[in-house]
Amino acid sequence: MQKKLKYLGELGIFEVSDYPYQKEKYTSFIYPSVCGDRIVKLFKVLLTNNCIFNCFYCANRKDRDCPRYSFDVYELAEIFYSMWQKKIVNGLFLSSGIDIDNNQTQDKMIDVIKILRKKYNYNDYIHLKILPGVDEYLIKKAKIYADRLSLNLESVNSLYLKRISKEKNFSKNLLNTLKKLSDLNKEKPLKNGITTQVIVGCSEENDREIISFSYYLYKNYDISRVYYSGFIPVLKTPFENKSPCSFKRQIRLYQADILIRKYKFLPSEIPFDKKGNLYLNKDPKSLWAEKNKEFFPLEINKAEFYQLLKIPGIGIKSAQKILKIRKEGKINSEDILKKIGVRIERVQPYILIDGKKIEKQKEKKENKVYYTIFDEVV
Ligand code: SF4
Repeated sequence: MQKKLKYLGELGIFEVSDYPYQKEKYTSFIYPSVCGDRIVKLFKVLLTNNCIFNCFYCANRKDRDCPRYSFDVYELAEIFYSMWQKKIVNGLFLSSGIDIDNNQTQDKMIDVIKILRKKYNYNDYIHLKILPGVDEYLIKKAKIYADRLSLNLESVNSLYLKRISKEKNFSKNLLNTLKKLSDLNKEKPLKNGITTQVIVGCSEENDREIISFSYYLYKNYDISRVYYSGFIPVLKTPFENKSPCSFKRQIRLYQADILIRKYKFLPSEIPFDKKGNLYLNKDPKSLWAEKNKEFFPLEINKAEFYQLLKIPGIGIKSAQKILKIRKEGKINSEDILKKIGVRIERVQPYILIDGKKIEKQKEKKENKVYYTIFDEVV
C-alpha cells in the first residue's frame, strides 16, 4: 500500500496548483498551495496511473513501461481522511489517468470525494480534476462535492496539441468540456472557481501565444487561474530527451499572467522578444515601464488604482494602502510609502510625491522573484 501511495502521490507533481516553488514541498506528494487567502497542505494524488491514451510527454501514457497502480475509492478516501485527522494535510487534489473509459474513471473520482463529504463529513478543501470529454451530468455531480474543478487543456491550440497527443481533440475533448464547466460555474460558482493547465516547453509554442490564449480564457471561460506546468522530460517516453522548461520561463509567465489577469494589461502591452518569448533577464512589468517612459512620473497623490499598479515597486496591496491613506490626507514624504512596504529605490524613477521627485536611492540588488504568493507583481 505504501508503495502505491508513494507512486501515485509522486505523479501529482505534474498537476500544478500554485506558483512554481522550488523548495517548500512538504513530502513527495504534499504541496503548499494558496487557496483563497490561506495556504493549504495539499495532498496531490492520482486515482490510477492506468491510461488508455498515449500523450507523448506523459508518465502515465499507455505504452510506457512502468508499474501500474489503482486505488479503490474507499481505500483512497480512508487514506486521505486519516492524514487529515492527523493534521498532516488539509486539502485534497485528486487527478487520474483515464482507465478504460473517461466517464467511468470520472465517476470513481467523484465517488472518492463523495465518500469524504458524506461518510466522513470532511468539510475542508477539495480540488478535483475533470477528465477530457466527460458527460455534463458528471461535471454537475462533481460540483456538488468539490471546491475547485479543473480541466487540463495542455496546449494553446489544436496544432500544438497534435504535437503532444495524437488522440485528444482540442475543440471536442478539451475546449468543449471546459465550456461546459465554465457555463455550469457561471450558473452557480464553485467556492474556489475553475482552473486549467497548459504544459509549457514541449510543443514549441511561444510565450506570446500562451499569454494571448490565457487572456482569451480569462475573458471568455470564467477561469480563475491558468497554471503553467513547465515540461519535465520523463524517462521511457518519446520526449525523454527533450530539454525541460526553465524555472525562469515559468516565473516570467506567471508574472505576465498576473499583469493580464489582475492589473488590466493587454497581451499586446506585454514586452516579448523577437521570437515572441518573455525576456528572462527582467520582469515584464519593469520592462513595460522602461519602454513607456511617457507614462511616468505619476503623482502618487493623484494616480488611479490601475495607474498605481503600473509602477514598478507597487503591487495590489500597496496600491490599496496608498488609496486608503489618500482618503485621510496627503502623502507628503517617502517615509509614508516606506511604512506601507514600498521599496523606494524601485519606485523612485516613476513617481512624484506632492509634485517633487524623490532623491535617487542607492540601488539594492534585485530580488529574483517579483511576485508574491498572494497574486501580485511588485
Ligand atoms: S490522457 Fe492524461 S494521463 Fe493519459 S496519457 Fe494523456 S496526459 Fe497522461
